[in-house]
Amino acid sequence: MTLGVVSISTALYSLKPIRLNSGLVESQTSYLSRLAENHSISVGMLLGKVVAPFLEKEYLNKGSRFYDHAIELNAFGNQAAAFAKALSILTGIDSIPKLTLISLKDTLSPWNVLAETKRWCPLCLEEWKRSNSIVYEPLLWSFKSVNICANHNVFLNPICPNCAKTVPYLTRTSRIGFCSNCRCWLGSNEYKAVLNLDPAQLLWEQYKIKSIGNLIINKELIGEHSFYNICLLLKALIQRSGGVSAFSRKLSIPKSTISSWINGGHKPSLDVLLKICFAFEIDIAELFKADQYTDFLYAKCVINRSIDKSNIDNKAARKIDWALIEQKLNAIIEDQELGAPSVREVARLVGCNERLLYNHFPERCSQIADNYKQLIQSIKSRRLEEDRNTIITATIALYNNGVYPTERNVERLISPLTLRRKNNYSAWKDALRMIITR
Ligand SMILES: [Zn+2]
Ligand SMILES: [Zn+2]
Repeated sequence: MTLGVVSISTALYSLKPIRLNSGLVESQTSYLSRLAENHSISVGMLLGKVVAPFLEKEYLNKGSRFYDHAIELNAFGNQAAAFAKALSILTGIDSIPKLTLISLKDTLSPWNVLAETKRWCPLCLEEWKRSNSIVYEPLLWSFKSVNICANHNVFLNPICPNCAKTVPYLTRTSRIGFCSNCRCWLGSNEYKAVLNLDPAQLLWEQYKIKSIGNLIINKELIGEHSFYNICLLLKALIQRSGGVSAFSRKLSIPKSTISSWINGGHKPSLDVLLKICFAFEIDIAELFKADQYTDFLYAKCVINRSIDKSNIDNKAARKIDWALIEQKLNAIIEDQELGAPSVREVARLVGCNERLLYNHFPERCSQIADNYKQLIQSIKSRRLEEDRNTIITATIALYNNGVYPTERNVERLISPLTLRRKNNYSAWKDALRMIITR
């Protein structure tokens, strides 16, 4: 066993975080995965044998609850802070807190900011791999509001193309750039989810990515500004746009929500702040940094873009060119290389809302959904077959090497596969029967 490779008394390698102080800074979950890889151990071992004892969080070794909520490590709370502190001490790199949103804890509402599972740009991953650059995951990709890669003009991918599952931020066996379910490489040169957006929608997506990038760059500075200051700034913006009612109407934000910010001290969600800043044509980082009394902000307090996201969506819906969509739909159906994409994926590819697409082309959408279902089914049975072969081979190999193939011994060999699943258990039983009848 290689347990002795790292011990608490030995500091971990001083691995440098990627793109510090930029909008594309690495996330803490990405750093953890790379740190494990740099020590040639699994994430599970790094956390279980080094970080957990250091933090006195033995529960990291039990069950999967911690891993299910690993996104917390990139976020605002105590978990992110505790890990960042521990990793800073263990690696001697004191900038680890910058890989999280801890500094925005008192400024931003923590709800709904980060996506539950990983999203990535397959083109970025592939490009880094081919150019021998370090493959990593930017903190920016964790933001729910970020949907596109500005470098490649494609949607971020939320689903593994091989097993069609979402990919968790961290598992005991995570590797950067690989699916933790089926182990396949997530980068690709062939990725085709090109943006086919209405210009107004594209502007909104690009605005969000730029603005959140700036928020990330300035987060330590912004964190020094109290929330009270932001309440004052919002009040100023509301006043200058003609009061609560006018502001509410123009931005389609309920009046009660606005009152809860200015009277109740509730923090607006990141999405709403982005919407406001987009309308006022200011950067979200400017909103946080600006002083209430600076002329700069007052000068901008005219709603230049009174369009909000829902307006953009409605506008896009009204302007949909169905003939063009049909053309694209046919091309996608005929494109063998695309395999069997889901209706959601197709909607994205043709640049149309999924529900609208269903309403307009019900038969074709049902066909697409059926094909997708079949694909998932065949991937599932292929995986079951592969798992079965792995288990049988492992059980027989153990027996041939003089080790009794108990459930535990087999599981050790086939980890992270487990015999707890019904099909896997019966594969093991079958292998035992084969051994007995030989
Ligand atoms: Zn990219
Ligand atoms: Zn996969």
